[in-house]
Amino acid sequence: MEQKVMDPTVEKALEQFKALDEKITHFSSIIGLADWDQKVMAPKKGRSMFAKAAGTLRTEVFKLSVSQEMGDLLDTLLSNEKTEGLDEMTKAKVREYKEYYQKSKSIPADLFQEYSILTAQANDAWEEARENNDFARYLPSLEKIVEYKRKFAEIYGYEEHPYDALLDEFEPGLTVKKLDPLFAKLRESSVKLLERIKKNGKPTKVEIFDQSFEIEKQKEFNRFILPIIGFDMNAGRMDETVHPFAQTVNTGDVRLTTRYLEKNVRSALFGTIHEAGHGIYEQHVNPAFEESVLQSGASFGIHESQSRFLENMVGRSKEFWKYFYPKLQEYFPNQLENVSVEDFYRAVNTVQPSFIRVEADELTYNLHIMLRYEIEKALIGGEIEAKDLPAIWNQKMQDYLGVTPNTDTEGVLQDVHWSFGGIGYFPSYSLGNLYAAQILRTIQNEVPEFNNHIENGRFDLIQEWLKEKIHQYGKLYTPNELIVRVTGEELNADYLVEYLEKKYTEVYEL
Ligand code: ZN
Repeated sequence: MEQKVMDPTVEKALEQFKALDEKITHFSSIIGLADWDQKVMAPKKGRSMFAKAAGTLRTEVFKLSVSQEMGDLLDTLLSNEKTEGLDEMTKAKVREYKEYYQKSKSIPADLFQEYSILTAQANDAWEEARENNDFARYLPSLEKIVEYKRKFAEIYGYEEHPYDALLDEFEPGLTVKKLDPLFAKLRESSVKLLERIKKNGKPTKVEIFDQSFEIEKQKEFNRFILPIIGFDMNAGRMDETVHPFAQTVNTGDVRLTTRYLEKNVRSALFGTIHEAGHGIYEQHVNPAFEESVLQSGASFGIHESQSRFLENMVGRSKEFWKYFYPKLQEYFPNQLENVSVEDFYRAVNTVQPSFIRVEADELTYNLHIMLRYEIEKALIGGEIEAKDLPAIWNQKMQDYLGVTPNTDTEGVLQDVHWSFGGIGYFPSYSLGNLYAAQILRTIQNEVPEFNNHIENGRFDLIQEWLKEKIHQYGKLYTPNELIVRVTGEELNADYLVEYLEKKYTEVYEL
């Protein structure tokens, strides 16, 4: 084969680009470690100083990402004829940095400064407002955040809807035009299914969870299942925090956290499986992508698909509990001795409309997201104003879930996201469910006896498939490219709709 001779300017740029990418990634991994330390280990009194130190490092990383050097390198590598010789990996890195560079550069420095101050204050306002059920305390900050986000959307640019510019930050390439029909289908079918469950569903024995489960034993059980479901304990660890999360230092050091509650055994159990889904993804990224911007997952939505696949589609399946339930009974004989595996399986799949998103079940969870999506879209589109949110929120809760929050604390004030400017973030959660169901269909076709593997505790075969098809690629492909490569088609809501329909028809004997 003829060897292409590379332009020496490009060759040199490639070398410098690789070094710069490595430097940014190294700093970012130290920042990740510092974040983990603040949340998990740091004593309270040291936290504010520590936050400042991490902030300084974060600013340096930002400067590197938008530096003149980065701009020049991107220019050289992007100039059309020359980039044809670039390999797939470099092209993907250029794509990632270019996106960030252009967006960051497009916001005038003073505007960005004002916005940073605003979000810091908004977070305090939100905390106080939530604590005191006082939406008015939060409203001025929220109004300003919406105003800034509308400005940013105009600056970033969009083709059809200003909200597209914000969605793109979390799920590259996603638009209102693509999302509207997906979410509409899911919302309509979920509302109907919920109605049927309420009317004709055979109640589950959810009361089995109204018991104390010793925390020490919960810890042991969680540590017992983690390696079996595929988390490599030699390349990670698990600790405790109030808000569970997964943090990657590098592919050989992925840290999970969980939260144990004596009166709620489900919290740690499914929280751990969820975070393990995120963690296993990161452990499986191709080592060739390490020390580069590609070492993380494809997008928020794809990442969430991996945690939800493991938590819901595997972790709440009958096969999963056929394997693990006898063991769980050994840990908790007093609580579970007289509960059958069938009753336990039905109980972990109980549908119960509630006010709080993070406590929602697998079916109603998406309705919480639809409501937030519709509100964000209308806010950024200028169809509604922040002051109208409590009323709109409560109306949608009633329409979709059939419940109305008693207070704004249980309603519009429950989530932190808007206070840090995270408008466009929420749809990722439901996208994760949509991707996961589509991936489930494919894996069931491609891995013979998929369900039997779960029932026999053979998670290695499933994880191998996920690694080969999804995990190893890190950020190499855009989310849309990836889902098409894996499943042969673009994202389609039918798979989740059918999955939910089938699951709950069985669980509730509809
Ligand atoms: Zn998650």
